[in-house]
Amino acid sequence: MKFPVEQFQGVRTPFYYYDRKLLEQTLDVINREAARYAGFHVHYAVKANVDPTVLGIVNAAGLGCDCVSGGEVEVCLKAGFPASKVVFAGVGKADWEINLALDADIACFNVESAPELDVINELAQAKGKVARVALRVNPNVDAHTHHYITTGLSENKFGISMDMLDMIVQHAHSLPNISFEGLHFHIGSQILDLQPFVDLCNTVNRLQDELAAKGVKIRTINVGGGLGCDYEHPDEHPIPDFASYFKIFAEHLVLHRDQELHFELGRSVVCQCGALISRVLYVKEGVKKKFVILDAGMSDLIRPALYEAHHNIENITAPANGPKEKYDVVGPICESSDTFGKDEVLPVTRRGDLVALRSAGAYGQIMASNYNCRRIPSSLVL
Ligand SMILES: *Cc1c(COP(=O)(O)O)cnc(C)c1O
Repeated sequence: MKFPVEQFQGVRTPFYYYDRKLLEQTLDVINREAARYAGFHVHYAVKANVDPTVLGIVNAAGLGCDCVSGGEVEVCLKAGFPASKVVFAGVGKADWEINLALDADIACFNVESAPELDVINELAQAKGKVARVALRVNPNVDAHTHHYITTGLSENKFGISMDMLDMIVQHAHSLPNISFEGLHFHIGSQILDLQPFVDLCNTVNRLQDELAAKGVKIRTINVGGGLGCDYEHPDEHPIPDFASYFKIFAEHLVLHRDQELHFELGRSVVCQCGALISRVLYVKEGVKKKFVILDAGMSDLIRPALYEAHHNIENITAPANGPKEKYDVVGPICESSDTFGKDEVLPVTRRGDLVALRSAGAYGQIMASNYNCRRIPSSLVL
């Protein structure tokens, strides 16, 4: 990624920089690869990044939205996404969130429990509406990813267990203000080995056959998101391998007649187009270490502190071919976990230099907090 450093002059750090062109190219690849297969529909999981300009670009590319809160449904509608392309998941939907989505006539609720189904039915009844729902199934598939972002194991709180599915599908059909549309799955995030998606396809096929044998009609299958991005080599792999990803589903998931297959991609859409840009405040000599102290901290980008994630660190103002040194790169916050990298080899770094934390487009700005009464970082889309 080439950083337009001249255009960063005068912008208050830290801020998130988004490369518009890379985002548009990524969306082009998604659209091209999904269009190879009949019935494939892609939603953007907005929880990864809700920057208004980013959302506008995603909407212009024609993707739908996947939301996990009423606030996200509002943000999507405000950004201009048609309600007919909005789906809404989440284990704990509050009544006001359900009402908001019913009023907007969203495409589908991805329902995660029997009591939620009853509440949606009741609230829809009060409005004289019929809510379209898919049942989120916990397929007990191991995504082999960090345990904080594994969601499809039976020990996780998400979805309906497979042994209860049949009963809840019957129940859904008995409710007058519910229209049963299909099945929903989401097994986790940052998945780079595609085998778990093959496992998911096999489970979906089995469940479909079992339900079809009982005469249950399934119009849509939604396989969620989870495709990862290459945090270690953002320049070699600026766009995730969507061709292989969609091909897995085309080859392994048996779609019945007129069925739609929906995807909800978050991280893989926006991860590589973003970087957190920060200024070096001090270079401090420790006893055994040299520290680069940034003006960005875990309140701006929490992934390293939360899941021991690593974002590549680049000094984007020092000459790249000059002498190098080893540093621990840290933030200003009063927590030892506020560390972005240990023993990072960087060009000799000085106060005032600009540093980029790469691959920060997903789960970066959106997870920023006011901890230590710090400001939420702004964004710059160029
Ligand atoms: C978070 C989430 C996604 C997106 O996951 P990514 O790993 O960012 O692709 C999709 N669907 C649901 C239900 C989610 O909760």
